[in-house]
Amino acid sequence: MKIRIGNGYDIHKLVGDRSLILGGVNIPHYLGLLGHSDADVLTHAIMDAMLGALSLGDIGHYFPPSDPQWSGADSLILLAQVDSLIKNRGWQISNIDSVVVAEKPKLKPHIETMRDNLARVLQLEPNQVGVKATTNEKLGPVGREEGICAYAVVLLLQ
Ligand code: MG
Repeated sequence: MKIRIGNGYDIHKLVGDRSLILGGVNIPHYLGLLGHSDADVLTHAIMDAMLGALSLGDIGHYFPPSDPQWSGADSLILLAQVDSLIKNRGWQISNIDSVVVAEKPKLKPHIETMRDNLARVLQLEPNQVGVKATTNEKLGPVGREEGICAYAVVLLLQ
């Protein structure tokens, strides 16, 4: 059996008049994430981890911000496309682990829905998709609520 590991990181800026979408969940908050797509920072980190595991580059290569077709895109649809790239090469996901770093709002009530969304798109069981949330203890730009970032690792099997 072959095994590959990948890691991903993403950060997006928090602004007014944008939705806060994390793991495909639209979370009520007075700020949202700025980006060309829906700026779902968690899903982006997971996509980059999947691509990284196979040295396939990063999401900017496949979904460039300069391409208007990705404007406002649902990142779960982009995730499905990255999943196809993996599967077409004969790989399957063993598990994903991720962490979202956000000072506010409280993400705990939404974690299970995020896991369910990601697992559904990737055709996995929710227990294969770890999503954790933490604050940055008020330190740095994330601690000042200027942005939200996410980290992910993925293990692929063939
Ligand atoms: Mg991004």
